[in-house]
Amino acid sequence: MDNKTEIAETLTLEQGKPMKEALGEITYGASFVTWYAEEAKRIYGETIPASAVNKRILVLKQPVGVVCAITPWNFPAAMITRKVAPALAAGCTVVIKPAEQTPLTALKLAEAAEKAGIPKGVINFVTGDAAEIGDAWLKDSRVRKLTFTGSTEVGKLLMRGSADTVKKVSLELGGHAPFIVFPDADLDEAIEGVMVSKFRNNGQTCVCANRIYVHESILDEFVEKFCAETKKLVIGDGLNPETQIGPLIDEAAFKKVESHIEDALLKGGKIEYGGGRVIELHDGYFVQPTIISGVTEDMKIMQEETFGPVAPVISFQDVEDVIERANNTPYGLAAYIFTRDLQTAITVSDRLEYGIVGINDGLPSVAQAPFGGIKESGIGREGGHHGIEEFLEVKYVSIKI
Ligand code: ADP
Repeated sequence: MDNKTEIAETLTLEQGKPMKEALGEITYGASFVTWYAEEAKRIYGETIPASAVNKRILVLKQPVGVVCAITPWNFPAAMITRKVAPALAAGCTVVIKPAEQTPLTALKLAEAAEKAGIPKGVINFVTGDAAEIGDAWLKDSRVRKLTFTGSTEVGKLLMRGSADTVKKVSLELGGHAPFIVFPDADLDEAIEGVMVSKFRNNGQTCVCANRIYVHESILDEFVEKFCAETKKLVIGDGLNPETQIGPLIDEAAFKKVESHIEDALLKGGKIEYGGGRVIELHDGYFVQPTIISGVTEDMKIMQEETFGPVAPVISFQDVEDVIERANNTPYGLAAYIFTRDLQTAITVSDRLEYGIVGINDGLPSVAQAPFGGIKESGIGREGGHHGIEEFLEVKYVSIKI
């Protein structure tokens, strides 16, 4: 935290997110270090009543061993601390391969760790060819745990590769979050939620609202208010304190966003706001925050993670139908519902096949809660006491006296 501004500046220059968000990421990232430093004191085992009077049953928790971590570019600091802090708290040493787009933020964390007195060899960083490093780790039986945040495609490859040495794996993969607004929702609260969920990090988070389902009775009012708020967003250089939307990470990301917009337009979608590149900022991949209506389920934007500032708005009539559409995806990371009705909140969240459900909350991620997905969005959890279990083995000790 003492180096917060300096690390945040590196993050913004390297990754593009606005300084305010970069500072937020450092604070969020540091919260895992504080939380797991406390939790390290509570790695409790168990004693279990034995069936025989001359026996005692103990259950111990031990560190899994050497941990290898592969992290993405969208949260270059927090995705490292979210893995390293619980690993260290559990008693493991860690080797980290940061994303090739954002190695410098990672190295700033390395410096901070050294300054903080972490002994040499406990936290290690490797940069270079991802597949080569990954392969070396997969083959090495000394690596007992692989923890990864990134695409579903690479996650599957790493899971397959871990089988040969039967490593423990944690995978935080892609998402395709539905954001459902019921007719009784507080509309201003829903707009606030969708703005933060959709446009945080320029739409480049795995929990970003990707499909916005709005009840038909409030659709027009929702779109009008959503456009009005979106128009206010300031796009540009992240180092400018006014900026709220930076550039996309690279050309491939830009092309994906463009192709999603084009495909939606070809299939009958209507641009309510935005829709193009920001020409005056042409030396970066700046795209206007975009809202599209008239969206149908066959559009690319409804089937893949966009990872950009494009918001498809889809109307619905029936609760059963919207639940089915929300679940109709191989992904299961985060879902959001906005309603003031307790019955709707509980019954719908029960039935959403997602690891995280935000009820009237567009920003649910915190250090003490388990973050993670089901289905093809991943395996394992990060955060909270669940997050530390990922780095522990259970040892059963049977004592005969
Ligand atoms: P994204 O599309 O978000 O860049 P990736 O899954 O490609 O997601 O990248 C996430 C992380 O996985 C990065 O650190 C990247 O270098 C790493 N990575 C990519 N391919 C491989 C691979 N074959 N083996 C190991 N790591 C990989």
